[in-house]
Amino acid sequence: MTQLTAADLSALAERLAAMKRQAQAEIEAANNAMSSDHEAQGHEVVTRADEAEEFRLDEVRRAEIQIDQNTLVQIDAAQARMQAGQYGLCLQCGEAIARERLFALPTAIRCTPCQAEVEQHG
Ligand SMILES: [Zn+2]
Repeated sequence: MTQLTAADLSALAERLAAMKRQAQAEIEAANNAMSSDHEAQGHEVVTRADEAEEFRLDEVRRAEIQIDQNTLVQIDAAQARMQAGQYGLCLQCGEAIARERLFALPTAIRCTPCQAEVEQHG
């Protein structure tokens, strides 16, 4: 069993929902900002330097979208575990993940020792 109370779970559920909304908003904003989506036609002539800068920004946006999409996947998985009553249990050892760790990182799927082990072994 996890040491989480019903109040903890509902606070964490709210946290996850807020994180999800934020990630979705960020993906939408990054998508809207992508220069490939807006043709520059009708605007002032785009210089080579601007183009290079736009290209660089698009790369950054793509990377941000990728990170946000990964976050969304993790949030969905956390919400699914919550539905299944498995939330807060380490996927590796099955022990309860420390409450403080979950509040710091609501999408955590491993307890601190298991996470450290995974990171050590790459
Ligand atoms: Zn563990």
